[in-house]
Amino acid sequence: MAGRTVLGTVAYGKHLLTRFDDGRTLHTHLRMDGQWRLDRTGTPRATARSNDVRAVLADERWTASGLLLGMLDVVETGRERDLIGHLGPDVLADELDLPEILRRWTAAGATPAAEVLLEQRVAAGIGTIYTAESLFALRLWPWTPADEVADPGALYRAARELMTRAVSTGVPPGRVHGRLRRPCPRCGTPVAVAPARRPPMERPVFYCPTCQRRPA
Ligand SMILES: [Zn+2]
Repeated sequence: MAGRTVLGTVAYGKHLLTRFDDGRTLHTHLRMDGQWRLDRTGTPRATARSNDVRAVLADERWTASGLLLGMLDVVETGRERDLIGHLGPDVLADELDLPEILRRWTAAGATPAAEVLLEQRVAAGIGTIYTAESLFALRLWPWTPADEVADPGALYRAARELMTRAVSTGVPPGRVHGRLRRPCPRCGTPVAVAPARRPPMERPVFYCPTCQRRPA
């Protein structure tokens, strides 16, 4: 791709699409450990190379190093949908497509709410942190069957609001996620954790056993 110009990068859910002026797109995904790091071109950090470096995009001023990227594909820009077409609506899109998300939520039947929130084919962009924080915000037991959740739309509005706030402040909410055995900020009960989904796709879900009590 030497000599090509980057037109821009857009995010769809957790997928990043970097478009070039030759009609191609570099598709990347950070998974758990990846990052795109920006450094001034020519500085030691910009020129450093290791087995962690998966891609480098640079001009005279800036060098973007893609480290430990979990996915890396080059496709024709017109065929981006081959890579992301299976995903549900982006939870951070300018206009949240809640009707489509709710249609997909309903199709999940009695699947635990936490697993539906994590399912990128229902809505794209929510990971373990915002799954836990959204359920906590609504005082929902994470394993409540999806078809017993009274207002699933409220979960997605909460996730969107929490994520948007974290982007603007640079600080994640951290009310329940990652706070195992520390007191719930609402009631003081020690925070608990349990898995959602099955190995190898399981994820830890943090919750307050009192605020998010299992329904009787
Ligand atoms: Zn609590």
